[in-house]
Amino acid sequence: MLKKNMLIKGGKLLDIKSGYRYDRKDILIENGIIKEIRNDINSDGYQVLNLNGQIVLPGFIDIHTHVYFGKTSLGIDPDIIGIHTGTTTVFDAGSSGADNFDDFYKNVISKSQTRVFSLINIARTGLKNDRYELADLNNLDIGALKDTVDRNRDYIKGIKARASKSAVGEMGIKPIEIAKKAASLVGLPLVVHIGHYPPHVEDVLNLLDRGDVITHCFHGKSNGLMNADGSIKYEAINAKKRGVLFDIGHGTESFNFNTAKRAIGNGFYPDIISTDIYLENYKGPVYSLAITMTKIMESGIGLEECVSKVTSVPADNFKLDKLGMLKEGYIGDLTIIHLDPKPIELVDSDKNVIHANKQIIVDYVVKDGQVTKLTAR
Ligand SMILES: [Zn+2]
Repeated sequence: MLKKNMLIKGGKLLDIKSGYRYDRKDILIENGIIKEIRNDINSDGYQVLNLNGQIVLPGFIDIHTHVYFGKTSLGIDPDIIGIHTGTTTVFDAGSSGADNFDDFYKNVISKSQTRVFSLINIARTGLKNDRYELADLNNLDIGALKDTVDRNRDYIKGIKARASKSAVGEMGIKPIEIAKKAASLVGLPLVVHIGHYPPHVEDVLNLLDRGDVITHCFHGKSNGLMNADGSIKYEAINAKKRGVLFDIGHGTESFNFNTAKRAIGNGFYPDIISTDIYLENYKGPVYSLAITMTKIMESGIGLEECVSKVTSVPADNFKLDKLGMLKEGYIGDLTIIHLDPKPIELVDSDKNVIHANKQIIVDYVVKDGQVTKLTAR
């Protein structure tokens, strides 16, 4: 694809890590790379995108999606929930494993406009059979996993394991212990889904180290991060202190406003915001990463902080090269938004309704310097 030179003028840059807090600057992208960020760049000879004070962010990174479409029942085309909703980079969270990663690469990763990385499933079949992928330990083959990871380190950025009854059946914590050993062996973060017992969430938390991630952190089921009195479990606080990251992973069943508000009210913040978007929830209640961020803002976290949780934090944790910041020499991926002050009704995974008084609307997405204009949600 031809990567044109593109000058983005008149936006307000927001990327705290790079030192921008609504600063009016122009961004010049050449050959897909951010060449220059400066006050007023002369537009002679460049294609120009003129903005009207919109907020310019690093391209969104969504670490929990399911995009192995055509081969798994959850899978959706990554461009539908990626580029076309304002997200430039998505991670597929465990849809493929050692047996089918090559097919996933060939049919999805290599063909999509949206940048796709994989959190490869510890189960060799991935989510091909939807559930109980870890109920039979014969479905875990560490040798095959290591071989696949070693051949695909540009695309595989972590290991995924589901720690709930619908995955492990009667095996309890055992498959998650194996997943942790495998993740250490290949030197990648382990991303663990939490949900219904077994295993106990405390046992999962105690296994994890710096850089590992808990996804579905604010689900509304039992076996969550909070005690019955609303205080945060000791094991969760300790895991956070060790550097374990906590990710939203909204999904059809895994985000509850009351859980989120109580946890955030107790000072327990999510580190990463992701959607767990797939075929059955992209038309609601999840819709997009921008809508999920709007919900987190409504739960008590400001836009400035929400932005890092979908850009620099995941980019750092998963060692994504030259992504997640507005910086010269970085990849020319941008998400350009405005805050719409029109009230909107939003629903969580448990049908609780909140009324947000502002909404993130994505106006443009820029991927490798290519601009796509979005029409409203
Ligand atoms: Zn998921």
